[in-house]
Amino acid sequence: MACPQCNGEVIVEGKIYNQIDYFNPPAYFRPMYAPFYKILSSNIKFPNIFSACSLCGFIWSKLDAEAFKQP
Ligand SMILES: [Zn+2]
Repeated sequence: MACPQCNGEVIVEGKIYNQIDYFNPPAYFRPMYAPFYKILSSNIKFPNIFSACSLCGFIWSKLDAEAFKQP
């Protein structure tokens, strides 16, 4: 696996935490411009596993793209 931004090959996997926590909270992706009434239904849950490039700092993850097709 290489970094999608700089093509660096030194990648580190990890989790993202918003606060000190000993659990592994699930991560949610929420489209930034979702209408207010769709905020909860627009959350897309995915595993809290991210990859980080140790050369440029770019981070990324992956979710199920089918979730964007839900009404
Ligand atoms: Zn990079």
